[in-house]
Amino acid sequence: MTDVVRGFANSPLNWPAIIMFGLTHGLVLTLLPWYALTHDFSLAAWIGAAFFMGATGMSITAGYHRLWSHRAYEAHWLVRLPLMLFGAMSLQNSTLIWASLHRVHHKNVDHVDLDPYSIRRGFWFAHMGWMLRDYPSAELDLSNVRDLEKDPLLAFQHKHYLGLALFMNIGMPLLVGAAFGDAWGFLLLGGLLRIVLNHHFTFFINSAAHWWGRRPYTIENSARDNDLISLVTFGEGYHNYHHLFQWDYRNGIRWWQFDPTKWLIYGCSTLGLAWNLKRVPEFLVQRAMLERQFAEARLDLEGCNHHPTRLQALQTLLQHEVEAFGAIMGEWRSLQTDRFEAARKQIADTWENSEVRRRLAHLEESLRTQRKRVRLLRLQSV
Ligand SMILES: [Zn+2]
Ligand SMILES: [Zn+2]
Repeated sequence: MTDVVRGFANSPLNWPAIIMFGLTHGLVLTLLPWYALTHDFSLAAWIGAAFFMGATGMSITAGYHRLWSHRAYEAHWLVRLPLMLFGAMSLQNSTLIWASLHRVHHKNVDHVDLDPYSIRRGFWFAHMGWMLRDYPSAELDLSNVRDLEKDPLLAFQHKHYLGLALFMNIGMPLLVGAAFGDAWGFLLLGGLLRIVLNHHFTFFINSAAHWWGRRPYTIENSARDNDLISLVTFGEGYHNYHHLFQWDYRNGIRWWQFDPTKWLIYGCSTLGLAWNLKRVPEFLVQRAMLERQFAEARLDLEGCNHHPTRLQALQTLLQHEVEAFGAIMGEWRSLQTDRFEAARKQIADTWENSEVRRRLAHLEESLRTQRKRVRLLRLQSV
């Protein structure tokens, strides 16, 4: 019997989670269709459900994930308060517990025993299975979220989580629904249906986003970029990028990539409600993609059965590209020293227009051009 199977058999069932998921899924499959067939939902109830869906979804992505788990930016309490409240409404545990497990996931990604929702234990385990038993891999140790405990809002949420979650999921929809004359409609759509959808959409990030999609930045782990998953996860589908550059407040870094969480955070920053937004320099992004392409090109050449002369020519070309890359990296490193010097001499404000910036832009362009050349080289080797 393997360790994994032994772990399955020995770990006790997590009854609170089983009852919670059983209730929400059971009621969505029975009570909701019965009510829909015998009553009419008001338009207000549908709009309310869409609002609660967005608010809880973004509280997980902009709040639990990017703000608190990764400290990718800082925010005013006027932003943190609703993120904390709607985060409790999303019924995914307190921020401290969520962030603690998520930090462990990043640290030990893909490790069978140490990643709490390791995809190596299968799609179902990564999606929901990990919560249905008290597995040692998800044992709580809040020592990695001491920084978050200092936030009184998060300490309050952790202490009063159950009361907050019940009020936000039952009390709130009933109260708002009563104001619009459709308390049951609000509870069933904005409460029940929204919980089940929001749960699965979030869980897809641990399952589908580690299973299905492209890996343009790194193959060191199983995380994938997937545009479709981004559509239902408020931009979290660019998970390959995220696992390499987890401190970036963006997940979808290109203008065409659907990442409403990034737009929300940026929008807050323009109002002065968020600051210190962390972005990975474009040069490092290009470097990661190029390194990834080199690895692929080497594999292509190993696997192709060209004539030895042609293979030799392609290998020489690739070697030239690797050497050119090394030269660019050398120049970039010396540029970093110049940049540091400029900052030290407190001329950072004039640095924007300086020679250093011009050279950096030139190096970024060199990497882009090189990526095109390596792509062409790979086309020749197939
Ligand atoms: Zn992940
Ligand atoms: Zn993350």
